[in-house]
Amino acid sequence: MSELREGVWAAPGRVNLIGEHTDYNDGFVMPFALPHTTVATVRRRDDGVLRFQSSDVAGPAVERRIDDLAPARATGSWTDYPAGVVWALREAGHAVGGADFHYESTVPTGAGLSSSAALEVVTALALNDLYELGLERGLMAKLCQRAENAYVGAPTGIMDQTASACCTAGHALYLDTRDLSRRQIPFDLAALGLELLVVDTRVKHSHSEGEYGKRRAGCEAGAAALGVTALRDIAYEDLPTALSRLDDPEIRGLVRHIVTENRRVERVIAHLEADEVRAIGPVLTEGHVSLRDDFRVSCTELDLVVDTALAAGALGARMTGGGFGGSAVVLADASMTPTLTGAILKAFASGGYAEPRVFPATPSAGATRLS
Ligand code: ADP
Ligand code: MG
Repeated sequence: MSELREGVWAAPGRVNLIGEHTDYNDGFVMPFALPHTTVATVRRRDDGVLRFQSSDVAGPAVERRIDDLAPARATGSWTDYPAGVVWALREAGHAVGGADFHYESTVPTGAGLSSSAALEVVTALALNDLYELGLERGLMAKLCQRAENAYVGAPTGIMDQTASACCTAGHALYLDTRDLSRRQIPFDLAALGLELLVVDTRVKHSHSEGEYGKRRAGCEAGAAALGVTALRDIAYEDLPTALSRLDDPEIRGLVRHIVTENRRVERVIAHLEADEVRAIGPVLTEGHVSLRDDFRVSCTELDLVVDTALAAGALGARMTGGGFGGSAVVLADASMTPTLTGAILKAFASGGYAEPRVFPATPSAGATRLS
């Protein structure tokens, strides 16, 4: 029997450096963890009751009996995320009992920075330790994804949870979403006098979920038409041939984005491993153009960030996350940060858009136990 009855754990949000919409095409992604975390104070209890409270949500704690958890009984509230994690752990045969959870977070919610994964992963890590499950981090991420897919009902890929669970400070995480192999790629911006700014546009266009579903379906249709399991199986060299076999211009755009985006991930890794960090700037920008024109998931506000940042001297910029709002990333010399921030705020004010939130993102640690 464990002596450990309670503790404090933290799990970060993430930004994706490159590799967008590739995670449901068996492709490559490269996120890194933000310094922003969701912190959970968790106490084990032996009466089969779960008690959830978040300082971000007003009202009393929400209680659930562990035996009552089922996707059909999801409530549509935020507690589905942690309840889903408990359900997914138990469904996979792990002996998890009750607990009191108190969450406090600095990860912006709904900004494409994965507050949902931070919430899930911190829950899984706390239970892993309190109930001595001995789960490997990648498996933990998978169970968190299962919670989000099956319990919350959001059809997301594996990137967010893996980033929150597996990133390390000073690195970006290369993840092959087919075999789930991963590698830490050195990405120490400060040492090179560089900064990566996150610009949270604070907009979320209402059609984003429907459009996400359409992109997924379109990618599947493209793979089927080309006779491959997933678009990941189209080699970059074979792209012209593959495109010539597709009639639908929309599907052609989706296929071209996925194949070139996987290539961009490989190019970014090659640059980072050769210590050519500044050289990734144009690759990031190419990624944005591809998401805007071929995959068609950008929006006016995200394009405004990218265009303004590039005009003001950034090395590269792109939307990050699913698109239709959310956040963009801007790579620049650290000395440029005030100029760039000023230019972006001014462009948004003159365009009549809400003021975006701009902050530097240092590649930070993945989920960890604090005490
Ligand atoms: P993202 O993951 O990009 O922030 P999602 O829509 O996937 O956006 O997840 C946001 C949702 O996750 C919130 O609406 C809320 O239900 C839940 N959530 C995330 N963090 C917290 C928190 N600290 N407390 C309560 N709910 C949270
Ligand atoms: Mg999310």
